[in-house]
Amino acid sequence: GHGFSRKDRIWRSVRIPIQIPEDESVDSVEFFNQRGPDTDAVALVDAISGEEISYKKFRVMFRTVGSGLHSLGLKKGDVILLLSPNSILYPVLIYGCWSIGVIVTTVNPVNTTYEIEKQLKDSGARMIFTVPALYSKVEKLGKPVVMIATAEEEKSLPKSITPFSKLLSADPSNLPKVIRRQSETAALLYSSGTTGMSKGVVLTHRNIIAVILQLLNDAPPEVRERRYMVMLPMYHIYGLAVVTLAQFIRPGTLVILPRFEPELFFRTIEKYRITDLPVVPPIIIMLTKSKEVDRYDLSSLVELTTGAAPCGIELTKELHARLRSVRIRQGFGMTETTGLVGVNECRPDLSHFGSTGTLVSNMEAKIVDISTGKALLPYEQGEIWVRGPNVMKEYLNNVKETASTIDSEGWLHTGDLGYYDKTGQLHVVDRLKELIKFKGFQVAPAELEALLLTHPQISDAAVVPLPDDKAGEVPVAYVVKDPTSNLTEKEVIAFAAEKVSPYKRLHRVTFIAAIPKSPSGKILRRELSLLAKQKAKL
Ligand code: AMP
Repeated sequence: GHGFSRKDRIWRSVRIPIQIPEDESVDSVEFFNQRGPDTDAVALVDAISGEEISYKKFRVMFRTVGSGLHSLGLKKGDVILLLSPNSILYPVLIYGCWSIGVIVTTVNPVNTTYEIEKQLKDSGARMIFTVPALYSKVEKLGKPVVMIATAEEEKSLPKSITPFSKLLSADPSNLPKVIRRQSETAALLYSSGTTGMSKGVVLTHRNIIAVILQLLNDAPPEVRERRYMVMLPMYHIYGLAVVTLAQFIRPGTLVILPRFEPELFFRTIEKYRITDLPVVPPIIIMLTKSKEVDRYDLSSLVELTTGAAPCGIELTKELHARLRSVRIRQGFGMTETTGLVGVNECRPDLSHFGSTGTLVSNMEAKIVDISTGKALLPYEQGEIWVRGPNVMKEYLNNVKETASTIDSEGWLHTGDLGYYDKTGQLHVVDRLKELIKFKGFQVAPAELEALLLTHPQISDAAVVPLPDDKAGEVPVAYVVKDPTSNLTEKEVIAFAAEKVSPYKRLHRVTFIAAIPKSPSGKILRRELSLLAKQKAKL
């Protein structure tokens, strides 16, 4: 029962299996062409302007954009970099790219030029798509720019920049016939994985189709109209695949917010009578604690799904006490699994609170003892390994990191510590990997360490997480400075802040005589984390 086999100690999904089209020529676009709605129903709404796109119109729009991209000289296999807040055009552009076999790499809009340039180079992107407010970040990167702008903003664009409207006025009948394959790359999303720097996660069309089908299989059983809202960033796998791309296959409307702002958030739920709301733990905290909540009518909400970082049982119960009629579910996933591993099933009882649910269709998992490598039994804690059609192909141009993440049997080593209970619910207990998550955003210690080491007065550095009530975790640094230096904590914090996004900001810097390391030179991160926690308690 519950999918556990005592023989090989593998958990197998007990949900109805999905059937990914066997025909290699069915990529995400073809899959949508065949399976997506083709109606006048509203697919996308811009919550601020009120602009709407129907499923029918979406089909024409992305082919138009594909044709426009082709006339800009983009060819199959090219990569474009997308730096934009959420917008109604975001998925249109992505499907437009895919229709001619172009790969998309998405970037967090708060990233700095320093961070964007690294991703640009690593991904090999040829062209940049952005909005006027973010243009200054990419102006000097030496790549052609296409600007997603309003008619008013377009008037003042320099000649060298292509307005997105030009693509929207292309002729869809000029869309070239490009041979596309399900096993080819669709998107490059960046994640640091278990160790080191941020890497390009190679997601294929097959990965995307798999996740969409897994989500469809997971759809709540009741028949009703669905209005989803996405304020989660579309550059991240959760907002992109799990919420936005899945939308084109399941009927219902997706209301799009460019960013998260509490008042706008509440007003939009009210105005559009949002029924299904994917969130992250900081929003759960806000919904639980904020007095604001009582000022708005949230009675339309049927389901809240949280993911990207842990949401504990106590917090979930508190929220449930406040929003009695709302079903609360938690999911677990990673960029490397196209966003999904498991999610709580739609059960009326609350026994699943605090867990991250059962495996989605066609997924397998093992809990592995860290020291012996042996698969474990229910309730025994170990590293979570997963396998399934939504596991990434590889890290881009990185054979070594790929091999240490996906083993020869196809198991993805998540770097998360957890256990299964006897009902097949996964409990994520801790993170074994270096990764720090600030409000669900990835902060890679290796990136900050490398940056700190570029400071002329810093001879060594280590960055570790410190638990935080609001953010989940914050990055703090241990720094060894040159003996003659009188560098201060403030100066180190400012030095890093100048180069990296605000969410990666160091919250504390402690000077130390030497960074504790193993004989092989690895930073003893656990030791430093403990030190950081002890210091915070003082
Ligand atoms: P990302 O690739 O940015 O989605 O980060 C994936 C990582 O986020 C996972 O490996 C976990 O460490 C963490 N994570 C995601 N969902 C959960 C969850 N429900 N509970 C605990 N950790 C989670």
